[in-house]
Amino acid sequence: MRADRCNRCRFWNEDMSARDPNDENFGFGQCRRKEPVLLQPLAMMLLPKLEFGQQVDPDLDVTSLTCASVWPATGATDWCGRYEPKGGGGPC
Ligand code: SF4
Repeated sequence: MRADRCNRCRFWNEDMSARDPNDENFGFGQCRRKEPVLLQPLAMMLLPKLEFGQQVDPDLDVTSLTCASVWPATGATDWCGRYEPKGGGGPC
């Protein structure tokens, strides 16, 4: 029986530059099962610096928000309970 794992999951977006064509167990990719996650420490670094006495909360522009957001990264043999095989139907 084949194991359910990321490199056999329909939501896995493999990084083709980091794969070993001779070893299917070695590789890295992004899980696209859910939306990207905003990394708070990265977002804080991209916030404009306030001048002393400035009373408004700064907003991040859309480019900075995009740069501070990431897809979860997984290895080829990682897995989770939301696994769905490649070639399966759409999300339920
Ligand atoms: S983390 Fe889960 S849903 Fe995402 S690619 Fe791996 S098995 Fe699939």
